[in-house]
Amino acid sequence: MSDKITGGCRCGAIRYECNAEPILAGHCYCTVCQRASGTDKNSAVAFPENAFRLTGEITEYTVEADSGNTSTRGFCPTCGDPITGYGTGMAGMMMVSASSLDEASVFQPQMDIYVDSAPPWTHMDPDLPKVPGMPEE
Ligand SMILES: [Zn+2]
Ligand SMILES: [Zn+2]
Repeated sequence: MSDKITGGCRCGAIRYECNAEPILAGHCYCTVCQRASGTDKNSAVAFPENAFRLTGEITEYTVEADSGNTSTRGFCPTCGDPITGYGTGMAGMMMVSASSLDEASVFQPQMDIYVDSAPPWTHMDPDLPKVPGMPEE
Protein backbone atom coordinates (compact mmCIF):
# COMPACT_ATOMS: atom_id res chain seq x y z
CA MET A 1 0.00 0.00 0.00
CA SER A 2 1.10 3.54 -0.68
CA ASP A 3 1.33 6.20 1.97
CA LYS A 4 -1.78 7.71 3.45
CA ILE A 5 -3.35 10.62 1.64
CA THR A 6 -3.67 13.60 3.96
CA GLY A 7 -5.11 17.07 3.92
CA GLY A 8 -6.88 19.75 5.89
CA CYS A 9 -7.69 23.43 6.14
CA ARG A 10 -5.43 26.46 6.16
CA CYS A 11 -5.68 27.16 9.90
CA GLY A 12 -5.05 23.54 10.87
CA ALA A 13 -8.27 22.99 12.84
CA ILE A 14 -9.48 20.32 10.40
CA ARG A 15 -7.26 17.44 9.31
CA TYR A 16 -8.05 14.23 7.50
CA GLU A 17 -6.36 11.13 6.28
CA CYS A 18 -7.32 8.32 3.97
CA ASN A 19 -5.65 4.96 3.50
CA ALA A 20 -7.24 4.14 0.15
CA GLU A 21 -6.68 5.44 -3.36
CA PRO A 22 -9.17 7.92 -4.87
CA ILE A 23 -12.27 6.37 -6.50
CA LEU A 24 -12.72 9.25 -8.92
CA ALA A 25 -11.88 12.89 -9.35
CA GLY A 26 -13.24 15.73 -11.42
CA HIS A 27 -14.57 19.23 -11.72
CA CYS A 28 -18.22 19.91 -10.87
CA TYR A 29 -19.90 22.98 -12.37
CA CYS A 30 -23.22 22.73 -10.49
CA THR A 31 -24.51 25.92 -8.88
CA VAL A 32 -24.01 24.54 -5.37
CA CYS A 33 -20.34 23.92 -6.12
CA GLN A 34 -20.00 27.39 -7.60
CA ARG A 35 -21.26 28.97 -4.41
CA ALA A 36 -19.16 26.75 -2.18
CA SER A 37 -15.94 27.34 -4.08
CA GLY A 38 -16.37 31.01 -4.95
CA THR A 39 -15.83 30.43 -8.65
CA ASP A 40 -17.06 28.43 -11.65
CA LYS A 41 -16.53 24.94 -10.24
CA ASN A 42 -15.48 22.75 -7.38
CA SER A 43 -12.62 20.34 -7.99
CA ALA A 44 -12.96 17.28 -5.83
CA VAL A 45 -11.62 13.79 -5.19
CA ALA A 46 -13.80 10.94 -3.94
CA PHE A 47 -12.51 8.41 -1.43
CA PRO A 48 -14.20 5.35 0.03
CA GLU A 49 -15.99 6.67 3.11
CA ASN A 50 -14.86 3.78 5.28
CA ALA A 51 -11.17 4.56 4.60
CA PHE A 52 -11.53 8.24 5.43
CA ARG A 53 -10.96 9.74 8.86
CA LEU A 54 -11.46 13.37 9.81
CA THR A 55 -10.35 15.15 12.98
CA GLY A 56 -11.50 18.56 14.19
CA GLU A 57 -14.82 20.33 14.52
CA ILE A 58 -16.18 20.75 11.03
CA THR A 59 -19.29 22.81 10.23
CA GLU A 60 -21.76 21.26 7.81
CA TYR A 61 -24.45 22.66 5.56
CA THR A 62 -26.94 20.44 3.74
CA VAL A 63 -28.99 21.26 0.66
CA GLU A 64 -31.59 19.21 -1.18
CA ALA A 65 -30.93 18.70 -4.88
CA ASP A 66 -33.57 18.62 -7.66
CA SER A 67 -33.26 14.84 -7.63
CA GLY A 68 -34.39 14.70 -3.98
CA ASN A 69 -30.91 13.70 -2.88
CA THR A 70 -29.25 15.69 -0.15
CA SER A 71 -25.79 17.12 -0.48
CA THR A 72 -23.77 18.05 2.60
CA ARG A 73 -20.69 20.23 2.58
CA GLY A 74 -18.23 20.51 5.40
CA PHE A 75 -16.07 23.57 5.93
CA CYS A 76 -13.83 24.93 8.64
CA PRO A 77 -15.74 27.31 10.95
CA THR A 78 -12.58 29.32 11.58
CA CYS A 79 -10.89 29.79 8.20
CA GLY A 80 -13.84 28.83 5.96
CA ASP A 81 -11.91 26.43 3.73
CA PRO A 82 -14.20 23.95 1.95
CA ILE A 83 -13.13 20.43 2.93
CA THR A 84 -15.72 17.67 2.56
CA GLY A 85 -18.74 16.83 0.51
CA TYR A 86 -21.04 13.83 0.62
CA GLY A 87 -24.62 13.02 -0.12
CA THR A 88 -27.34 10.45 -0.48
CA GLY A 89 -26.65 10.32 -4.25
CA MET A 90 -23.07 9.19 -3.63
CA ALA A 91 -23.46 6.52 -0.97
CA GLY A 92 -20.21 5.23 0.49
CA MET A 93 -18.15 8.10 -0.90
CA MET A 94 -16.49 11.04 0.78
CA MET A 95 -15.45 13.88 -1.48
CA VAL A 96 -12.72 16.29 -0.51
CA SER A 97 -11.84 19.60 -2.16
CA ALA A 98 -8.72 19.40 -4.30
CA SER A 99 -7.50 22.56 -2.55
CA SER A 100 -7.46 20.77 0.81
CA LEU A 101 -5.01 18.03 -0.22
CA ASP A 102 -1.50 18.24 1.23
CA GLU A 103 -0.16 16.78 -2.02
CA ALA A 104 -1.70 18.61 -4.96
CA SER A 105 -0.80 15.85 -7.44
CA VAL A 106 -3.25 13.46 -5.74
CA PHE A 107 -5.98 15.28 -7.68
CA GLN A 108 -6.10 13.90 -11.22
CA PRO A 109 -9.31 15.09 -12.89
CA GLN A 110 -11.10 12.54 -15.08
CA MET A 111 -14.22 14.43 -16.09
CA ASP A 112 -16.24 17.64 -16.04
CA ILE A 113 -19.74 17.18 -14.63
CA TYR A 114 -22.83 19.43 -14.51
CA VAL A 115 -21.32 21.33 -17.43
CA ASP A 116 -24.82 22.56 -18.40
CA SER A 117 -24.84 24.84 -15.34
CA ALA A 118 -21.38 26.30 -15.87
CA PRO A 119 -21.26 30.11 -16.08
CA PRO A 120 -20.70 31.63 -19.55
CA TRP A 121 -17.18 32.81 -18.65
CA THR A 122 -15.87 29.39 -17.63
CA HIS A 123 -12.92 27.80 -19.36
CA MET A 124 -12.83 23.98 -19.37
CA ASP A 125 -10.10 21.53 -20.24
CA PRO A 126 -11.09 20.36 -23.76
CA ASP A 127 -9.47 16.96 -23.17
CA LEU A 128 -11.77 15.94 -20.31
CA PRO A 129 -15.05 14.10 -20.99
CA LYS A 130 -18.09 16.34 -20.45
CA VAL A 131 -21.23 15.22 -18.62
CA PRO A 132 -24.26 17.56 -18.75
CA GLY A 133 -25.43 16.70 -15.23
CA MET A 134 -24.70 13.95 -12.74
CA PRO A 135 -22.75 11.04 -14.29
CA GLU A 136 -24.79 7.83 -14.63
CA GLU A 137 -23.49 4.72 -12.94
ZN1 LIG B 1 -9.45 26.06 9.27
ZN1 LIG C 1 -21.37 20.24 -7.82
